[in-house]
Amino acid sequence: MVDIKINDEIRLTDDKFLMIAGPCSVESEEQIIRVATQLRKIGVNVLRGGAFKPRTCPDSFQGLGEEGLKLLAKARDATGMAIITEVMDMDELPLVAEYADILQVGSRNSQNFSLLKKISRYDKPVLLKRGFGNTVDELISSSKYLSMNGNKRIMFSERGIRTFEQSTRFTLDISAIPVLHEKTEYPVIIDPSHPAGVNRYVEPLALGGTAAGADGLMIEVHPDPPKALSDSAQQLTVPQFQNLYTKVKNINAVLGKTVI
Ligand code: PEP
Ligand code: MN
Repeated sequence: MVDIKINDEIRLTDDKFLMIAGPCSVESEEQIIRVATQLRKIGVNVLRGGAFKPRTCPDSFQGLGEEGLKLLAKARDATGMAIITEVMDMDELPLVAEYADILQVGSRNSQNFSLLKKISRYDKPVLLKRGFGNTVDELISSSKYLSMNGNKRIMFSERGIRTFEQSTRFTLDISAIPVLHEKTEYPVIIDPSHPAGVNRYVEPLALGGTAAGADGLMIEVHPDPPKALSDSAQQLTVPQFQNLYTKVKNINAVLGKTVI
């Protein structure tokens, strides 16, 4: 696996497991600073939070935009955490790249080849989510657009695919972990929140992905999930996350990896 240097302190290597956590969307200064501080205390080093949100319905909360990026930067200053946020659009890319330590490409943009080509010109770590209608080979092809100018700091994210199964929001494809490991040199980060769709399924999916050899997790955590402006049902409370974090640490100890 390639080493992914995120900042001077965080480097994802073979013997490490990266934990990313934070709310689906940045909603207010109070919300993001509060949850970031709590997550940092637990040991999380990378904070997630959407500022530009890819919502299925235009009536849904679209994110705070640039204000959201500024709040993420404040959370980074307050806690020392690195920040990851989604870039949806070529026009926003320079702005998002100014703030983010890791650029996130969402499931819906996984095959937006023009956007991927533009991102390839930035020397930044990228988390490339799998399109929910894409095969593993299509995901790998998308990553080649990101690396076309020499950037090797690419992480895949399996976040569930569409299948005939309707009892969860998406079907988490755990098989993608060994297949991606066999075919590529990039780490695989499991997002258990979006396939689960409800918070009680997040833990089993997270633990399954960890045991199957994922290189990290990205989990949605909100200080008060019922009040969340997006993905309210699937976000974990901080105590729920803390409980899960301990289990993830224990599984990784068995596998010889340290959670960073
Ligand atoms: C997200 O992680 O904020 C998100 C929108 O996920 P996805 O692109 O996988 O739907
Ligand atoms: Mn979400």
